[in-house]
Amino acid sequence: MTMTHEKILISIYEAMSARLGPSNWWPAESPFEVMLGAVLTQNTAWSNVEKALNNLRAAGFMDARTLDELDEESLAAYIRPSGFYRLKAMRLKGLLAWLRDSCDYDIAQLKAHDDLALRESLLAVRGIGPETADSILLYALGRPFFVVDAYTRRMFSRHGMVSADVQYDELQNFFQDALPSDVALFNEYHALIVRVCKEWCKKNTPRCELCPLCDFMEYAL
Ligand code: SF4
Repeated sequence: MTMTHEKILISIYEAMSARLGPSNWWPAESPFEVMLGAVLTQNTAWSNVEKALNNLRAAGFMDARTLDELDEESLAAYIRPSGFYRLKAMRLKGLLAWLRDSCDYDIAQLKAHDDLALRESLLAVRGIGPETADSILLYALGRPFFVVDAYTRRMFSRHGMVSADVQYDELQNFFQDALPSDVALFNEYHALIVRVCKEWCKKNTPRCELCPLCDFMEYAL
């Protein structure tokens, strides 16, 4: 029996979910923390991001306006554990300026903005690429954008569904065109992909025989 694109994607989701259970992403205390984490997690492990966030929290900077008052060099020192800290401090300053200009640091006011306009304006911030922008949109602001990354590309190219060098937008559309535009589904789907890749779909040695998706190797589109 031939499965439709949507049915395969839903079946993959269900197989991952059945094995792994709920992910409860994103691990942060507020939408603002999610935003900071989305920038800090670029090219580093989450454990390093947590150290940087803990530094900011302990120093009382977990507030957009207060953090924007901090100079860039001091900000860099607080987030040093996250790596590339000068670059990330510059990017965070850009994000804070965006918050100042778009909602006067009041994230709740962003509700008035349309999804695509919000994405476009975030992408105009220096150092905020599509993956970071979509992570902010989905996990901090609850907007229906499917986050894709190297894990997603690896998993779905190994299943013959996309090419190994598929571009970000094409890969995102692969999901968004087939799935219902559902924030909770997009949130959990991306989290499950990351968890499966970390456990089984490793970069050099995939462990397909143990993976919850081993039955899907035959469903190449
Ligand atoms: S480990 Fe194998 S079965 Fe699991 S997601 Fe990767 S390619 Fe698919």
